[in-house]
Amino acid sequence: MKAHARGVELDCDAIQIFNQSPRMWKPTSWKEPDIDEFRSLMDGGPIESVVIHAVYLINLATKDREMRKKSLTSLSHALRMGDAIGADGVVVHPGSTLKEPLPASLKRVGQAIKQVLGESESCRLLLENTAGAGGTIGRSLEELYELVDLGGGSKRIGVCLDCCHMLASGFDIRTDAGLGQVMDDFESHLGLDRLHCVHVNDSAVPLGSNRDRHEYLPDGELGEAGLSAFLSEPRFEKLPALLEKIGDDPDKDREQVATARRLRKKGLARRKRRARR
Ligand SMILES: [Zn+2]
Repeated sequence: MKAHARGVELDCDAIQIFNQSPRMWKPTSWKEPDIDEFRSLMDGGPIESVVIHAVYLINLATKDREMRKKSLTSLSHALRMGDAIGADGVVVHPGSTLKEPLPASLKRVGQAIKQVLGESESCRLLLENTAGAGGTIGRSLEELYELVDLGGGSKRIGVCLDCCHMLASGFDIRTDAGLGQVMDDFESHLGLDRLHCVHVNDSAVPLGSNRDRHEYLPDGELGEAGLSAFLSEPRFEKLPALLEKIGDDPDKDREQVATARRLRKKGLARRKRRARR
């Protein structure tokens, strides 16, 4: 409810929420009236889309039985919550190999995806690309393609692209053309109908550094050029664009939302000028 109110106050049209504390396993159960209240808030607009971010602790690739059980239980719970509140999807970081061989790890993620989809109704599961730190899975488009396949290829499996993670994992998306090439690959291998939201963060660390360090827009390595390219990419049109370095200070939040809108305009104008030439 608070996230919704804050979203309205900040003039957002999409919000991302945690269905519970993101760094704890203990689920928060939303009571029926809470769900009804949330749904009625969404009905009236102006927020058109809500996406749930799953708990950070989840590792769908783990071999550890206890950890796997907790991960799957938590993700199933988030998906059922997504069903209940009519979310556009649940975003999850696929997990980490923890030094186990990659192919078997990917398979375990695939099985986990099948299981959690089986335990929920219709909410989408959105795999987020990662910065590629340690053994994290989802650093390349190939890994994301493979996970969609191994998860059974259901229409409910989608992708969330985070531009900060893209840069950190080695995609040079700091120009319209650079991002365009990556999206050509995405489009031809996976199809745009798998893409359901984007995360808009600047990166405190450089291209290919494989670290996950969000920065305020446009103070990081993506900067004005990279972020204006990302926010104006035609294939992202109509997708929820979610800022994640937000929530600490209302004034800063307002400024960040305004900056995102300004950078989008800037990118659109640049693309238009180029098309005219
Ligand atoms: Zn993200």
